[in-house]
Amino acid sequence: MKSSEMEAQLYCIHCNNNTPHVITYINEKMKHIECEECHNAIEFKVDIMKELYKEVYDRISTKPSRITEEYKQGLDEFLSKIPIRVISKPYRLIRYLNQSYKIIKQYKK
Ligand SMILES: [Zn+2]
Repeated sequence: MKSSEMEAQLYCIHCNNNTPHVITYINEKMKHIECEECHNAIEFKVDIMKELYKEVYDRISTKPSRITEEYKQGLDEFLSKIPIRVISKPYRLIRYLNQSYKIIKQYKK
């Protein structure tokens, strides 16, 4: 078992604002999201989440192979691309997580 954490700005229904959230992964699977402001937390135990886990995992897991391919094309080119890649990819992932979070919120009602 491997546990890792990621920080992201997500919309918190309790704070009614975008706040820093800590996302905890267990074996690359999203397990827990907690608002750092009010400590409202969401645990993923529902079966519907398996599909979401898979999607999120696929998005994360395709990243290293893409970077490796680009690495082969040339180190200089690769290094010049890093700042944009590092910023844009997590941002897209965060946007995706924000969308998913809204779906989870609706599902829980
Ligand atoms: Zn909050």
